[in-house]
Amino acid sequence: MGKIKVKRPIVEMDGDEMTRIIWQMIKDELIKPFLEIDLKYYDLGVKHRDDTNDQVTVDAAEAIKEHGVGVKCATITPDADRITEYKLKKAWPSPNGTIRGILDGTVFRKPIMTKNIQPAVRSWKKPITIGRHAYGDLYKSQEFIVTGPGKAEIVFTPADGAGVARLTIKEFTGPGIVMGIHNTDKSIRSFARACINYATSEKVDLWFGAKDTISKKYHARFKDVFGEEVAKHREELEKAGISYRYLLIDDAVAQIMKHEGGILWACKNYDGDVFSDMVAAGFGSLGMMTSVLVSPDGKFEYEAAHGTVKRHYYEHLKGNQTSTNSVASIFAWTGALRKRGELDSTPEVQAFADRLERAVIGCIESGIVTKDLCRLTTPPLEKYETTAGFIGQVASRLKAEL
Ligand code: NAP
Ligand code: MG
Repeated sequence: MGKIKVKRPIVEMDGDEMTRIIWQMIKDELIKPFLEIDLKYYDLGVKHRDDTNDQVTVDAAEAIKEHGVGVKCATITPDADRITEYKLKKAWPSPNGTIRGILDGTVFRKPIMTKNIQPAVRSWKKPITIGRHAYGDLYKSQEFIVTGPGKAEIVFTPADGAGVARLTIKEFTGPGIVMGIHNTDKSIRSFARACINYATSEKVDLWFGAKDTISKKYHARFKDVFGEEVAKHREELEKAGISYRYLLIDDAVAQIMKHEGGILWACKNYDGDVFSDMVAAGFGSLGMMTSVLVSPDGKFEYEAAHGTVKRHYYEHLKGNQTSTNSVASIFAWTGALRKRGELDSTPEVQAFADRLERAVIGCIESGIVTKDLCRLTTPPLEKYETTAGFIGQVASRLKAEL
C-alpha cells in the first residue's frame, strides 16, 4: 500500500529525556511508514537551545506562524540543577512560554478517555477540557527580594508623561518579597475568543472562574472582558446550545468535583497550570492528557501535557526497561495531522489520524497498557508493556487496520 500524502508541512519540535526517546519511536513506527510528510524539524533539546542561545525556540515559533500546524515533544525548562547537569550557559526560559508568547495563544488540555479506565472522581463521565490563558500574570512577572525596611510602590508613567499614577504596595519594616504582574485587554480578549471558538466547535458548555470579590480591579477586568466577548457572541453560543457561567474560582473547584464533565473550564494562567494537573491525575495518568495551543489567528501547536518524565529516563540510562505511557505524545501527532488534513481539505489524512487513535484506544481497551494504567483499569491488569512494546503493539494494530 502506498503512503498517504500530507499536502503541507508540519513543524516538528524535538525535545528532551524520555519523551525524546518516545518521540523517535513514534516517528519511526507510527508516522514515517505510513505518511509522505514534510516535517520542518527544530531541535528544542536543551543542549541545542543552549548552543543557539535559544534562537531555535523563536525560529520554531515563527515556523508555526508560517505553516499553521506544529507538534512538540516535551522539553526541559532548566533550573539551577539542570544548568549543572547539562553545563548550560544560563537558565533559558520555558520553551512553551516563549512559543505561547509569540503566538499569543490559549492552551486547551483534554484527557483521553477509554471504556476500561474510570476517573477518580465518580461523577466525571465526559472529558473536562481546561483552557489555560497562556499569557501574563505570574509567568511574565517582575519580582524582587526586599532586604530591609523601605517602601514598595507601583508606578505607571503614561506614554505622554502626563498623570503619573502611584500606589504604595507596602511600607516594609523588615525583609520581604514583592512581585509585579500584568495582563493586557488584548490578550484577555483573544483568550475569551479562543475559548468561545473551542466551546462552539466542540459543543461544550463554557465556565470561567476568577477571584473578582478580592481583586476588584485585576480579576474583575478578566470577568468583564470575558463577559463582553460572550455577549458579542451570544447568538453563536445559543445556536450551538452552549451556556456560559462565570463562577468564583473556589466555587468552580467545588462544582467541578460534582459535575459530569463535557465542559470547557476557562482558567487564568496559574489556575490553568495547577488545575490541569489535578484534572489529569483525576482522569488517570498524566500520560493520557493532551494539549493544544491555539492562537487567535488560527495557528495550532499540539503536545502532551506532561513533562520529559525524568525519573524514567534515568532508569533508561541505567539500561533498565521502562514502561512510559506514549499515548499523549501519539495524540499530539494525531491532533496535528487531523488539523493539517482539515486545513488542507485532505480527508485521507484526517482518516489516518482517526485510525491511529483507534489503534491506541483499541490496545488499551483490550488490556495492552503501560505500567501507569495497570492499577487504573477495571479490572486491574497484572501485566504491562514496556515503552517500546506498547508502541510496537499500536503499530501492529494500525497495520492490521490498514
Ligand atoms: P513529568 O515529566 O511530568 O513526570 C512526573 C511524573 O509523572 C513521572 O515521574 C511519572 O511518575 C509521571 N508521568 C508523567 N508522564 C508520564 C508518562 N507519559 N508515562 C508514565 N508516567 C508519567 O515531570 P518531571 O519528570 O518532574 O519533569 C521533568 C522535566 O519536564 C522538567 O525539567 C520540566 O521542566 C519538564 N516539563 C516540561 C513540560 C513541557 O514541555 N510541556 C511540562 C512539564 C514539565 P512516576 O515517577 O511515579 O512513574
Ligand atoms: Mg502544571
